[in-house]
Amino acid sequence: MARKGNSIIHGIEIDEIITMLNRAYADEWLAYYQYFIEAKVITGIMKDAAIAELTQHAADELRHANMVADRILQLGGTPLLHPEAWFTHTNCGYDAPETYNVVNILEDAIKGEQCAISVYSQIAETTRNKDIVTYDIVSQILADEVEHEEDLQALHDDITEFVTEIKQQFNG
Ligand code: FE
Ligand code: FE
Ligand code: MG
Repeated sequence: MARKGNSIIHGIEIDEIITMLNRAYADEWLAYYQYFIEAKVITGIMKDAAIAELTQHAADELRHANMVADRILQLGGTPLLHPEAWFTHTNCGYDAPETYNVVNILEDAIKGEQCAISVYSQIAETTRNKDIVTYDIVSQILADEVEHEEDLQALHDDITEFVTEIKQQFNG
């Protein structure tokens, strides 16, 4: 635990920060696995572009899990030790792929990113001017989650537009 490092936190209980971070930690592992398995089972048009994006996002979520775990330890907490706890602590849950179609997979992933954006903006609000280090870490993660949403939405829009054009060519 960082003694001097933690003495600069004020106006918020350290336990409260640890609890929020452990919930985010659960989210990151579930997001990591969701991307991992989506990249495996995905089918359909332009799936290679989607696989590249999903695989990159999986790596980012795992990196986020690392960042959050390290901060929990600095604060004197313990990152969730058992995967079962991911499901009892998660904010955003886990969306197992049901249909493997590229558009459906991207829609599930976009929903997940939108939840992550809400969670990290909430933690940033709560720690702003109180715990500068956590605020900085969650702000970095938040920027990644905003980029993730944008990447997925852009890909989703390209694919649906392409499909619409193809259909018009068939009908016209
Ligand atoms: Fe993340
Ligand atoms: Fe993300
Ligand atoms: Mg990306």
